[in-house]
Amino acid sequence: MTRPSDTVATTVATGTCCSCGLCAAACRCGAISFATDGGSMVPVIDESACVHCGRCLAICPGANLASPPEAEPSPEELLGNVLESYSGWSTDEATLTRAVSGGVVTQLVAELLASGKYDSAFLVTNATEGMDGTQPTTQRVSPEDDLTRTQKSRYLQVSHEPTLRYLLSNPKEHVIIVGVPCALSGIVSAIDAFRLSRDNYLLIGLFCDRTMTSNVLRYFERFAPGGRLSGVDFRTKEASGWPGDLRIYGNAGAFTDLPARKRMEVKGYFQPECCLYCLDKLNRCADITVGDDYVHGTQINDGKGACSILVRTEAGMTALAATDDIALIPSDARDIAHSQHIENRLVNWHNARVLEGSHDVSRRDVRTRNSALKSIDIGKAYPEHPELLERELRRTSSPASKMRRRIKRVVGKVLGKLRPKR
Ligand SMILES: Cc1cc2nc3c(=O)[nH]c(=O)nc-3n(C[C@H](O)[C@H](O)[C@H](O)COP(=O)(O)OP(=O)(O)OC[C@H]3O[C@@H](n4cnc5c(N)ncnc54)[C@H](O)[C@@H]3O)c2cc1C
Ligand code: SF4
Ligand code: SF4
Ligand code: SF4
Repeated sequence: MTRPSDTVATTVATGTCCSCGLCAAACRCGAISFATDGGSMVPVIDESACVHCGRCLAICPGANLASPPEAEPSPEELLGNVLESYSGWSTDEATLTRAVSGGVVTQLVAELLASGKYDSAFLVTNATEGMDGTQPTTQRVSPEDDLTRTQKSRYLQVSHEPTLRYLLSNPKEHVIIVGVPCALSGIVSAIDAFRLSRDNYLLIGLFCDRTMTSNVLRYFERFAPGGRLSGVDFRTKEASGWPGDLRIYGNAGAFTDLPARKRMEVKGYFQPECCLYCLDKLNRCADITVGDDYVHGTQINDGKGACSILVRTEAGMTALAATDDIALIPSDARDIAHSQHIENRLVNWHNARVLEGSHDVSRRDVRTRNSALKSIDIGKAYPEHPELLERELRRTSSPASKMRRRIKRVVGKVLGKLRPKR
């Protein structure tokens, strides 16, 4: 019988698995496979093969989500270490046009691979992979590969299992790894646990305001021309520029463009539960963190989109300095954090404390967590029970409901200002 306390069965049981896939790569006994549950891939442990070494749990980023810090994190803690901060964009027109924001990630990876400083990178393709409900996985690209197929953000859960398997069997290779905060924190734990050399890796982090389960694709399918989904651009700048519309591909390359609102309004339903407890929006363990530049918005780079960039380590500084085709202007790190509303993560700290069951939570905190969980349950049931989501969407998009949310936001801001600082 598996003892939940020394395997990732614990993470699954607490609802904090982020489907990063790292545990399967870390398990030397081949005891971990994945099954789909509510649109997410979750680990299943073969009890006859498990030797209870505890390695999977030691590197599991989901396990940390259930252990929040005792004290409410300060804005500085939420921001993390920063050496330099910029607004930047690729000066290569094609890369910038295809990118969701400034194309910095793709430009950086392309130049570092071409220079020979890194042997390969693990990225995610924007092709049709995952449209059948399976989870997208990271893929290795080398200097000769075309990066057009790996551009754009996939707001889906991504498995980094191939990345870690590769690092473990090629420990000398210099590799660039791109990922959201939970995935990169798991990679850092694995580098540590398996005594790999941290110097061999450049970690490019993405800011992250939640991801979504594959059930969102079933929902998008209803908008696909011909009724069959063949691909999704979660954001494209082609029709109306940055920050971009949602593009749904159907039969024979035909597509429909929908306003970004269509993606935003279902985010709360299709987010996995782990995102309710996550404090790290700005990818604090990366060498360089990149997100959309909401400090300047469309006021910069002719409205084509730019990236906010936080350089966190010497390796990050060296990597950025080695590029020729990224335009940079200074941007204050605190302004970047403010533009990303990182203070909203304090709600997650309260959620995690409720989950942990360790503190005297107010009734209001419990209710916040329960209403969010209710939405997630609707998203998990989506393909089988579309009527639940339709009812909720009708209810939450009514003018009265919008007004209630606006009032709640204003009151929340005022109360936030009145709250004593620690
Ligand atoms: C789930 C998610 C949530 C995000 N939330 C925010 C946010 O709240 N605020 C914000 O400012 N920015 C957010 N971003 C980052 C933003 O969408 C852009 O990725 C970032 O600004 C880099 O833009 P770029 O133009 O340089 O990217 P591009 O040059 O288009 O390159 C994007 C790179 O990211 C890789 N990639 C795409 N999706 C994933 C994924 N799921 N996991 C790992 N790698 C991936 C691609 O392979 C590619 O290499 C989020 C990204 C993701 C994936
Ligand atoms: S968070 Fe990642 S490592 Fe942890 S159980 Fe889930 S898939 Fe495995
Ligand atoms: S405890 Fe060890 S053997 Fe068991 S599933 Fe985890 S890594 Fe594999
Ligand atoms: S919000 Fe946190 S837990 Fe959710 S996908 Fe992003 S980094 Fe992972």
